[in-house]
Amino acid sequence: MSSPASGGDEVRRFTVENRPVRGHFVRIGGAWRALREHRDYPAPVRELLGQAVSASVLLAATLKFRGTLTLQLHGNGCARMLVSQCTHDFRVRALVRIDDHAPLERPVAGPGTGGAALTPELFRTLVGQQGRLAVTVEAAERDVRYQGVVPLVGDSFADCLEEYFASSEQLPTRVRLAADDTHAAGLVIQQLPGRTDAEPSIEAQSAWSDAERGIGTVDRHELLGSPVERVLTRNFGRRDLRLYSGTPVRFECRCGPERVAGLLRALGADEVRDVLREQGAVTVTCDFCNRPYRFDAVDVEGLFASGAVPDAPPSLQ
Ligand SMILES: [Zn+2]
Repeated sequence: MSSPASGGDEVRRFTVENRPVRGHFVRIGGAWRALREHRDYPAPVRELLGQAVSASVLLAATLKFRGTLTLQLHGNGCARMLVSQCTHDFRVRALVRIDDHAPLERPVAGPGTGGAALTPELFRTLVGQQGRLAVTVEAAERDVRYQGVVPLVGDSFADCLEEYFASSEQLPTRVRLAADDTHAAGLVIQQLPGRTDAEPSIEAQSAWSDAERGIGTVDRHELLGSPVERVLTRNFGRRDLRLYSGTPVRFECRCGPERVAGLLRALGADEVRDVLREQGAVTVTCDFCNRPYRFDAVDVEGLFASGAVPDAPPSLQ
C-alpha cells in the first residue's frame, strides 16, 4: 500500500503493525511557497506560520470531518493573530498579522542550515506570554461547529498542539513541526485506545515508548528534507511500519466574488455607497491570497437591489 518516496506536498499516514500506534507525516513545498507568495514575513514569523500550516494538516488528517478546520492562535506577542485553515481534502491557506517587526529582524539562520529552529525565546516573542490556540471544525453539509481551545503552553508550537490533543482528543500524542523558506513539515504519532477499557498491554506500552523515543530523535533537517521512508526507518526502525500512500496537499484560497459580496452586504448599503462615492469603486483585497475584488457603481447597486438580500438596517450599530 505504500508508494515511492516523494518530494512533498502530501500527507501520509503510517501505522506500527499489530500495535496501537499511528502517525501522520506532512511535508509541503510548492503549496507552502504559493501560500505566502504575496507576503514577505520575517524568518521567525515564516517559521511559525509554516509550523501552524503543518499542524492544521496533521489535525485535519487525524480528525474525521468533511468541511474546514481552522487553527487560530491569539497571543500578546508580535504575531497577534495567526490563522491556518485546512479542508478535509487538504486545501490550505493561512496568514499571520504582525504588530511589530522590530524584535524579529535579527538573523535566526545559522550558516548553511536553511534556517534555525524557533528557539523558545523567539517562540514567546512571537506569541507572547499569554494566549490561546483554538481549533474549529465547520462541517460542510450540516451546520455543525466544534471548537476546542487550549492555552499557549510550553516552549513551542508543537507543545501547544500536544496540549490540544491531550485535552481534546485524550490520546497520548507527540508532535514535531518545522518550516523554512522552502518547506513546511510535521510529524505526529498517537497511541490509539485499546479495544477494551483495560490497561494497555505491556507490548502496547512498549510500542508507544519506542515511538516516543523515535519521534524524539527526528531532527529538523530530516523533517524538512529527507524522504519520509528514511525519516521513519531511521527513527522508528525497530518496528514494522506500514506507510500508506500520500494524499496531496495544495494551497487554495476559497475566496470569490460571492463571498466578498456577502461581506459588503453585511457592511450595509450606506457604508458601501460612501466608499463608492469617495473612491469611485469599492475594492476588497483577500487577506489570504491578495486577490482584489472590484465593485463599480453598477455592481454595488446590484448588491443591494431589492430581491437580492434585504438591505442591512440603515442605522447599523
Ligand atoms: Zn483569497
